Amino acid sequence: MSRKIASVRGMNDILPAQTPLWQWLEARVSRVLDAYGYNEIRMPLVEPTELFKRSIGEVTDIVEKEMYTFDDRNGDSLTLRPEGTAGCVRACEQHGLLYNQTQRLWYRGPMFRYERPQAGRYRQFHQIGVETFGMAGPDIDAEMILLTARLWRELGLLDQVTLELNSLGLSEDRAAYREALVAYLRVHEAQLDEDSLRRLERNPLRVLDSKDPGTRAVLENAPQLSDYLGEEARSHFEGLCALLNAAGIAYRLNPGLVRGLDYYGKTVFEWVTDALGAQGTVCAGGRYDGLVAQLGGKPTPAVGFAMGVERLILLLAQRQPELRPDAELYIVSSDAPAALALAERLRDALPGRRVRCHCGGGSFKSQMKKADQSGALYALILGESELAEGLVMVKPLRQDGEQRQVPQADVAALVGGLLTQIDTQIG
Ligand code: ATP
Ligand code: MG
Repeated sequence: MSRKIASVRGMNDILPAQTPLWQWLEARVSRVLDAYGYNEIRMPLVEPTELFKRSIGEVTDIVEKEMYTFDDRNGDSLTLRPEGTAGCVRACEQHGLLYNQTQRLWYRGPMFRYERPQAGRYRQFHQIGVETFGMAGPDIDAEMILLTARLWRELGLLDQVTLELNSLGLSEDRAAYREALVAYLRVHEAQLDEDSLRRLERNPLRVLDSKDPGTRAVLENAPQLSDYLGEEARSHFEGLCALLNAAGIAYRLNPGLVRGLDYYGKTVFEWVTDALGAQGTVCAGGRYDGLVAQLGGKPTPAVGFAMGVERLILLLAQRQPELRPDAELYIVSSDAPAALALAERLRDALPGRRVRCHCGGGSFKSQMKKADQSGALYALILGESELAEGLVMVKPLRQDGEQRQVPQADVAALVGGLLTQIDTQIG
């Protein structure tokens, strides 16, 4: 016997029992994005390694420790995308989507990071990301936050998540702050962990991200970035807060919110939950006005965010929304041509309904058992007497009501009506 092969650690199958919830979530997300007039973009899963180094930043967790990087047969260094923003900017630049126009874009798909797998943290995970380009004011920041809030409402998660906000200022604000922070941290060098000491040299703002208790204690009295914001960043941030107040969106100002990627400036935000332990951030984003130019384009204002789909699924699974059964109608018969033909006619007459035709033979009893397991609301039975007389037996499986024989020509109208009635009862 040869050894069985398992999936790569941290890269999960999404099994048929789980996909209905994924599809339910994805359908709602694309409906909301559509309602805001956002367009989908699809980028490759693999990009030149250089793209991520230049955008995310060399001294970040992602680039230092988490990327899946390899040389292809040509010797070019490629990386499985750890996030979508860099690829989205690359694609927009490459195809001239940013010149003299605005864009509201979204994408979804797998991302790859070499992290320690645990609940809510995987090596292949899925994001739904949104990026907008060409709009400099806080109105678009607010629109994106309103969009996410509407999404939580649609998903029934609004009471599970809270919004945290901060401003990272302009790059010159951060430069002034960096000096003050470095001066402060140098005085407390002895209490800092090794990673933070290294970052102090190369990318001091990253020290704010440290989870080391010693470093965290030092950070408590460190200078605050919010005290170093210039007029432009300050008025942008105040503008955003005013728009959120006017829209009735609650938020918490969190001066410690810095985000793990270098390209952010001005607005940053996260939606967090305390229902998922340490993996509490379900959606994170912010403004990155510098990134397009950093990647060789013209300076272009931009804001975006990404949601962690697995974390949302974990939250939704606790709430158990009502999902569609595998089948609504299940056809039981020992006459395959008649059964397949009836199924096709029902699919013609009742678009959108899930019609499953029993295949694989078996006794009437075992077919009825399969019908029940499918979750179907009605079994449509073509027995010998029905076939002889051109009838179908309609048997309710989940609700009261007599089974009845109807002419084959009438069955679609009858079950179509019954299913619609049930839909309206459920609401
Ligand atoms: P974290 O602090 O949890 O590591 P992050 O700041 O690295 O998150 P982002 O790069 O901002 O995450 O990605 C946006 C969202 O994608 C996160 O808020 C989270 O919901 C999700 N996410 C990030 N990394 C993972 C992962 N390894 N597994 C599952 N979801 C993830
Ligand atoms: Mg991370």
